[in-house]
Amino acid sequence: MAYVICNYCQCGYDDLTDMAIHTRRHNKYKGIENQLGFLPAGHATREQIADKAKSEISNTAFVMDVRYRAAVTLLRTYFDASLSNAIDKGYWKKHPSFESFVAMINLLEAIPVEIQALLHREFGNTLGEIPPGIRYWYLPKSNARKLSFLEFEKNRGRNNG
Ligand SMILES: [Zn+2]
Repeated sequence: MAYVICNYCQCGYDDLTDMAIHTRRHNKYKGIENQLGFLPAGHATREQIADKAKSEISNTAFVMDVRYRAAVTLLRTYFDASLSNAIDKGYWKKHPSFESFVAMINLLEAIPVEIQALLHREFGNTLGEIPPGIRYWYLPKSNARKLSFLEFEKNRGRNNG
C-alpha cells in the first residue's frame, strides 16, 4: 500500500484501496485528451513554467520578442489551470480555446502594459468574459463568474480608496 500520484491524470491515490477511483479519473482524462488533442499541464509543472516565464517577462535586458513569448507561455499556464478547473467542474467542453482565452484575460500587474498591447494585437481583446486580474474562465451566468466580477469590483474599490 502506497500513496502515489499518476503523472498522466494527476490523481493522488492509495494504490491498494483507491484503484477504482483512479481508473475512473484516468479513463476520463483519456477521453478528454482524445477530444481536445492535449491535456492541461499539472499544478507542479505549471508553477515551474510560470516562475521562469515571470522572470523573463520582467527582465528588461531581454528583447521584447523574448519577453512577449514568455508572456504567452505564462498565459498558457493560466489557461491550463482554468481548463483543469473546468474539467473538475464538468464544463470543459464549453471552455474557450487558448487563443480565445488570451483575448479575454487582462492581467494588470502580471504583464506590463506594452506586452499586453502586443497580446491584444495578436489575439484580440474580448471584454466581459473574465474580469481584470482574474485567471479563470467560468460559465456565463454561473455564480462563479458573478463572484469573479464582484471580486474585481471589490479590489478596484480598495485600490481607488
Ligand atoms: Zn492516472
